[in-house]
Amino acid sequence: MSLHLPDHIRVLERGWLSSNNIVFLDADTADVVDTGYVTHAAETLRLIDEALAGRTLQRIVNTHIHSDHAGGNAQLQARHGCSIWIPHGEADAVATWDETRLSYQVTSQQCPRFAYDGLIHPHDTLHLGGHEWLALPAPGHDHAMVMLWCEAQGILISADALWQKGFGVIFPELAGIPGFAAQKATLDLIAQLQPRLVIPGHGAPFTDVDAALLAAQSRIQWLSDLPQRNSDNALKVLLAFKLLEAQCLSLAELTDMVCTTLQGNPTMRLHYPQAPQATAALVAEQLVRSGVATRQGDALYAAI
Ligand SMILES: [Zn+2]
Repeated sequence: MSLHLPDHIRVLERGWLSSNNIVFLDADTADVVDTGYVTHAAETLRLIDEALAGRTLQRIVNTHIHSDHAGGNAQLQARHGCSIWIPHGEADAVATWDETRLSYQVTSQQCPRFAYDGLIHPHDTLHLGGHEWLALPAPGHDHAMVMLWCEAQGILISADALWQKGFGVIFPELAGIPGFAAQKATLDLIAQLQPRLVIPGHGAPFTDVDAALLAAQSRIQWLSDLPQRNSDNALKVLLAFKLLEAQCLSLAELTDMVCTTLQGNPTMRLHYPQAPQATAALVAEQLVRSGVATRQGDALYAAI
């Protein structure tokens, strides 16, 4: 099955921890959307070099500043001298490198500091790979996130607003900021656009957009019916991420992470009134059951 991705767009599909990197090729220059997680930066540099085939990387565009989307920014800029453009909603947090607002503190994730050169406002037009791409606000997973839409080609870069199966954690809700309705509206916007092809932040590009939207719409309803489900999913995803980064974590380290996450997320805290050790043990069990981890004594090992 051909997805009809134009030659000037290379999607570097990455595994766990890193977002996809989407390289746009012009005659002599190139741009990249999103740069993966810092522990994969060497691989990101190598893959992007390969895709560039001698062209100059002139710009990084970030859909949002989560650590798995912006973790390669600093190293790519150091190597290529390219500029970095970010959504305008992240400008202050990036300028002051406020790790709490940027989520790195609460998620126990890392992202090397960088400075931005340009801001993306809603409905700005970006020129990527010889085409015009419209920046569209995509609140829900992250209220500052943008998607990129190329009407002429019918292609949407959906970031973490829509994957083939689901979408990213609705992070604002964990901190008591409404996010479910915004995510619903973002999905409605995607439905209106009727893209023929979606390049998601994670996973392969896909064309069965209606099916993905239907599943996502039913999922957001399911989450907003019982917000504890969003918290449960967030905790599982965050601990899995950390385990895959560290490869091995003790139950005590998992418990520390649970404490840090709950401390920074007041709504989430209400969902786990029990001792943090008990919450950590519960999530550890879920990770083992779902095949993400194996357990030996008090240690959890990454299994994927
Ligand atoms: Zn994200």
